[in-house]
Amino acid sequence: MAKIISKEDIRVVVYPIIGYRSTPDKEIEDCKEIQKNIRRHIDVGKIEVRWNTIERCEFCGFVWEEANSGRPLCCPKAVKEWEKEEKEEEEVRKCLK
Ligand SMILES: [Zn+2]
Repeated sequence: MAKIISKEDIRVVVYPIIGYRSTPDKEIEDCKEIQKNIRRHIDVGKIEVRWNTIERCEFCGFVWEEANSGRPLCCPKAVKEWEKEEKEEEEVRKCLK
């Protein structure tokens, strides 16, 4: 196998200072301020504020994962909630027939 490794999408990644009272909204606000300040001082190709979105279970706090059926994999409470919702959706489907 002849593998060629190249560098692309070269960028500077900047993180805000995270204080103990930081919230995601405050961090986004701080990042937008950093963005403004960078633009004010130097020319850059593109500068954007980005974040990752993580889905978590409201009951156990684990990262949300589900089977192909949609059934959650983390904890019994999430499964119970899902089963309840499935039952309700089934009732709606029956009413629409
Ligand atoms: Zn859970």
